[in-house]
Amino acid sequence: MARIAIAGAGLLGRLLAWQLGHAGHEVAVFDPAPGPEPTYDGHGAAAFSAAGMLSPTAELDRADAAIAALGWRSIPLWRDIVEGLGAPGLLKQRGSLLLAHRADRASAQRVLARLQGARPAPQALGAEALATLEPALHGAASAWLLPQEAQIDPPATLCLLQRRAAASVDWHWRSPVAALSAGRLQAGGRTLHVDWVFDTRGLGARSGKAEDGGFATLRGVRGETVWLQAPAHGLTRPVRLLHPRHAVYLLPRGADRVFVGASEIESEDRSPVSLRSSVELMAAAHSVMPALAEARIERLDRNLRPAWPDHQPGTEVSEGLVRINGLFRHGWLMAPALVQDALARAGLKEALHA
Ligand SMILES: Cc1cc2nc3c(=O)[nH]c(=O)nc-3n(C[C@H](O)[C@H](O)[C@H](O)COP(=O)(O)OP(=O)(O)OC[C@H]3O[C@@H](n4cnc5c(N)ncnc54)[C@H](O)[C@@H]3O)c2cc1C
Repeated sequence: MARIAIAGAGLLGRLLAWQLGHAGHEVAVFDPAPGPEPTYDGHGAAAFSAAGMLSPTAELDRADAAIAALGWRSIPLWRDIVEGLGAPGLLKQRGSLLLAHRADRASAQRVLARLQGARPAPQALGAEALATLEPALHGAASAWLLPQEAQIDPPATLCLLQRRAAASVDWHWRSPVAALSAGRLQAGGRTLHVDWVFDTRGLGARSGKAEDGGFATLRGVRGETVWLQAPAHGLTRPVRLLHPRHAVYLLPRGADRVFVGASEIESEDRSPVSLRSSVELMAAAHSVMPALAEARIERLDRNLRPAWPDHQPGTEVSEGLVRINGLFRHGWLMAPALVQDALARAGLKEALHA
């Protein structure tokens, strides 16, 4: 059994800790957060702020086929993970919808052209078919179903990963990692010597000198979201609005909450959500789901997506050190496959059967 130290208790860190801890390795995790629960102050793991859309087809609008392939591999892996956590309801796979208003048809066609060749292919829906699938939606002129796309509940999944690994993993909160290298991690004024260090600090991996594990070229891309309390809203699958200016989506999170996202702004500003973003997100959501007029605004949230200049995820594996970063807007979509590949490359494959 290996001694393992993980820097960062976000999406990748928790997935790794749960899998490696259950496989019987000695695992310690370090994170600056005050505890395992989300703080929603713009400074915690980006993973808590995410929508949790697992949309390999829809993301072809902004990503390449390799990212889509990681996504299609990850959806069944997520199913195994949530079953292993004893909470299969955290993952829902009902497909997702693309909607366009009449005035936006031309830009919608441009997006659909980029999705050409996707398998399974988008299916155009008539008004009646849309009303049957999602009676809560009104006002869109065109609709397409993206079969087999899925969604996951990020905060609930992150909290459960930590709780299920509470006994088998040593969790160190309020413990930022100051430096790391192969087999060595420095946190809280002490240095740990282990067999493997996993660096999953997201944007936190940028600080520090290169020899201490700092990545100068990593950047944060701001994303803002709105949580709405909408009792018995009736929406059952994620919906994206094809709009020339705003990439807006809404998705159900439980029977009484609708999650609306997300801006994508080249800024590392972690301050509260702007009026402009909240108005644009809510107006777009309301334009296809009029019942949201009476919803209550529960939370305006924001965070930074960790991205490399090329927007591709990056995994480095060398003896004693694994570093995964730059998951950008596709972390939930790709994480299980990336973790599977990294553990296989590190020769820690038995963890996959946790
Ligand atoms: C608004 C928004 C919506 C999104 N929606 C989706 C979506 O629908 N689908 C999808 O696939 N992806 C989505 N994402 C992207 C996804 O959330 C990220 O890609 C993912 O969280 C990255 O995972 P990570 O583990 O690398 O980083 P994070 O989840 O950010 O975790 C990094 C962890 O490292 C910790 N850390 C920082 N510094 C240090 C340090 N010095 N020492 C130790 N630990 C440290 C942090 O506290 C944090 O806990 C969204 C992101 C945002 C912001």
